[in-house]
Amino acid sequence: MLCPGCQSDVVGKITTKKENIRIRGEKINVTCQTRVCNICGSDIHDAELREKNIKNAENVYRHIHSMLFPEDIALIRKSYGLSQRLFSVVIGFGVKTIMRYERGALPDEAHNNLIITLRDPKIFIDIWNRKRHLLSDGDNAKISHTLSISIKDPNLLRYISFGFQDRHSSKAIMSN
Ligand SMILES: [Zn+2]
Repeated sequence: MLCPGCQSDVVGKITTKKENIRIRGEKINVTCQTRVCNICGSDIHDAELREKNIKNAENVYRHIHSMLFPEDIALIRKSYGLSQRLFSVVIGFGVKTIMRYERGALPDEAHNNLIITLRDPKIFIDIWNRKRHLLSDGDNAKISHTLSISIKDPNLLRYISFGFQDRHSSKAIMSN
């Protein structure tokens, strides 16, 4: 690598130092790894290390704001037996967004807050009930089945089929 300080072609050495990285306008102080010239000590740009430092800062940001980590998002989705595609239909934002979040991208705050609420099956069922018409009968049956296995509360179990009956009754009203 070419050192910007002394113009020598050097490998450089990795050092650690505390640095502020701005995440969504907030200064996050993290221990960063940087590459410096072993001749003159100048900083040498290292895209890979930079990316790692940003990831670390984002993780600290997640902790500060109690935000979901990628594995939390996947866990919430899988607890309802949903593929990324079905999850995206239910929650109403793109499958590519879900994929990015589960691969490690920092979620948009509104998205994060919505996904957090879905840990409560009652809220999930409520949202799903409003999106059932966008899913196939087979997919809806699978979701009902997954919910009926994991949910022990009889009141909540009744709630699973509530949306369906409700739609039928509203159809009946409309056709009158
Ligand atoms: Zn140098």
